[in-house]
Amino acid sequence: MPTGTLHIDLEAVAANWRALDHLSAPDCETAATVKADAYGLGVTQVAPRLFAEGCRAFFVASADEGLELRRALGPEPRIYAFYGHMPGDTLTLKRADVVPLLCSLDQLTRHLETLPRHPFGLQLDTGMNRLGLKLDEWAAVAELALRAEPVLVMSHLSSADEPDSSENAAQLARFHEITDGIAVPRSLAATGGTILGPDYHFDMTRPGVGLYGGAPFDRAEPVVALDLPVIACFDVAAGETVGYNATWTAPAPARLATVAGGYADGLFRALSPGVDAMAGPVPCPVVGRVSMDLLTIDISHLDRDPETLRFLDPHHGIDALASKANTIGYEVLTALGRRYQRHYRGSVA
Ligand SMILES: *Cc1c(COP(=O)(O)O)cnc(C)c1O
Repeated sequence: MPTGTLHIDLEAVAANWRALDHLSAPDCETAATVKADAYGLGVTQVAPRLFAEGCRAFFVASADEGLELRRALGPEPRIYAFYGHMPGDTLTLKRADVVPLLCSLDQLTRHLETLPRHPFGLQLDTGMNRLGLKLDEWAAVAELALRAEPVLVMSHLSSADEPDSSENAAQLARFHEITDGIAVPRSLAATGGTILGPDYHFDMTRPGVGLYGGAPFDRAEPVVALDLPVIACFDVAAGETVGYNATWTAPAPARLATVAGGYADGLFRALSPGVDAMAGPVPCPVVGRVSMDLLTIDISHLDRDPETLRFLDPHHGIDALASKANTIGYEVLTALGRRYQRHYRGSVA
């Protein structure tokens, strides 16, 4: 076994989608955000599983991601691209039947000139200040844009993972102000907004991270587990040091295991010290610096040398690992390396 094995539970992804779908009203459609290769987990596996579960609308970042997804899913589902209609996207959008979510006046002009009968959506900026027509731009072009019959109008919340943030209500109010009364389906909520409640759901929710087992969807079933093979086990004497810059000193004679995985595989250098790998139910601390492809783990307290050690077990999931590295579960997921063998449970692809 040359590399680690990343276990990806598509049954759990499907269960998480169903659970998020149950949170919203029957007349609100639950889509799925599968950008960045389904947050690193493999869009050609994840999306067909969600399609089999009943999901009929998918969000990706780029037109090219839309093309890959179209090939995986066939003609039926709707596919929306957050990057909108960029220079060079025209043919891809057309060929892959992807709906660009136009986010600027330039994009609106480009789209109406180059693909006048091709469906499009609109992104409005209600305060995130990242992508979307600003309020004054929208006021200036709303009439023209609506005459071209967009299929979706959406905005994105900046702070939906903080239920108490006043940003949420402020963005919701702005979204109402600028879209109430238009006869176009509306979407505001990703995972966080879906959990904030029905006021935020409108006609379609588009969760991403919650599908993959991440906060703020506390009730998500865990989706990933990572087993790393042990390459070598060895003893060190009290006072010996481990790894680059000799940052860890054995306080007593110790037995250590070096495993195949490191920061090039998404196990961030910032994880050490403070993170444990699991030998079955027994936590074993990572000692010394994380290297590019190697980690060293203290196994002194185990009865025998393990063959593999696990990261990301159900009790130490992506968000727990992320907090040790001062980041978020999203980054842990999307950083999971390409070198792992991927093992899918519940695949339909
Ligand atoms: C990534 C993204 C989503 C999904 O967000 P999650 O927090 O992962 O649920 C939805 N909408 C937009 C605009 C996004 O960029």
